[in-house]
Amino acid sequence: MKITVIGAGPSGLLASHLLKKAGHEISIIEEHKIIGRPVSCSGLIGKDYFDHFNNFNFKASILNRIDGAIVNFGNDSFELKRKGVSYVVDRPAFDQTLSKGLDVSFGESFMSFDRNKEKISIKTNKRKYTTDLLIGADGPSSRVRSQEFDYKLRYYKGYQVRIKADLNLENFVQVYLEKPFFTWIIPEGEGIFRIGTVSESPKESLSKFMFKKNIKGETIEVQAGVIPVGEGDVYKDRVFLLGDAACQVKPLSGGGVYYGALASECLAKSIISGEYNDYSKECDRLIGKEISRGLFLRKIYENLSEKELNKIFDFLRSKKQILDENGSFDEHSKTILSLIKDPKVIKFAPVLLKACIRSL
Ligand SMILES: Cc1cc2nc3c(=O)[nH]c(=O)nc-3n(C[C@H](O)[C@H](O)[C@H](O)COP(=O)(O)OP(=O)(O)OC[C@H]3O[C@@H](n4cnc5c(N)ncnc54)[C@H](O)[C@@H]3O)c2cc1C
Repeated sequence: MKITVIGAGPSGLLASHLLKKAGHEISIIEEHKIIGRPVSCSGLIGKDYFDHFNNFNFKASILNRIDGAIVNFGNDSFELKRKGVSYVVDRPAFDQTLSKGLDVSFGESFMSFDRNKEKISIKTNKRKYTTDLLIGADGPSSRVRSQEFDYKLRYYKGYQVRIKADLNLENFVQVYLEKPFFTWIIPEGEGIFRIGTVSESPKESLSKFMFKKNIKGETIEVQAGVIPVGEGDVYKDRVFLLGDAACQVKPLSGGGVYYGALASECLAKSIISGEYNDYSKECDRLIGKEISRGLFLRKIYENLSEKELNKIFDFLRSKKQILDENGSFDEHSKTILSLIKDPKVIKFAPVLLKACIRSL
């Protein structure tokens, strides 16, 4: 079967590998001229990804091991420890590893599609041709999605600098809770740090943050991008959405590489079996519930006042041991569920309820 994949990001590349291995003819269309650039990612990927996809050799793309996080709010902080919980990767090198053995048509932009009973016609900036199946793995602002799928989503703007600085932080990520997301400092190794934030004006927010914290250093690279947070259908009549195009990201942190990879496996399985509708069902089972819960928690988070957030931060700090033992890098609702089991959480019911009502 001839399958067209729009987008040579980590999701489209992984799906292409799995489908090529099953004997399908894959055509990958990528609007940029090289894999992995421009970068719009902090490159923090959980250990589970590397355990799960251990048939790829990512060694050359891994820059640092992360052993936990220091969570900050106002002037308070607490430390969460878990050796090797995640890794800092060089995203271009990571994506290039996934692209090995695949043919990509670079500098070609997907424009639109049309379908009849037998085939799907594809129009790009260079040509028109037909395909049997179409996979839109074309990132947060997916054209495939906007042509036909109805999504309830919100874009969050992210901005990050890579700087060479003298910060005392080797294997821990610093997280500063700041709505709507958080600000981060990620040690890349060799004295290089990735410092970024998400807000309405992330560049301004980040420069304010760096001024306040008196962080100075030589800027090596500036990166920016959007995080699509929302939900919608992932399949319609031989057209599939995958990865950021399908909002397969963790709503609380914006990380999308692992969910996009799990969805790539679901998609490949459904195409190989010929049961295309199974893609939606399997995605729902594997990541859909986690995304829905994350969206709910995000609404609450965004509607908490500073005072309420402070109370919740104090509670989290007091439950540091539970978080150390049960915290999950990729399944945030599991972490929350482990906290909910604590009877003291009932104290926060009015706070959470108020935030829920405010979010309506
Ligand atoms: C500031 C920021 C920090 C982040 N940090 C992390 C992190 O630490 N960890 C994590 O897991 N995730 C992170 N993410 C999210 C992560 O980058 C994405 O979830 C991931 O890249 C999604 O992969 P993808 O393959 O679905 O899409 P993409 O990586 O966006 O790839 C889509 C590809 O499609 C191509 N394309 C788009 N439109 C067209 C078209 N019309 N024609 C042809 N090609 C097209 C693009 O050029 C691109 O190569 C971050 C995102 C941002 C914005």
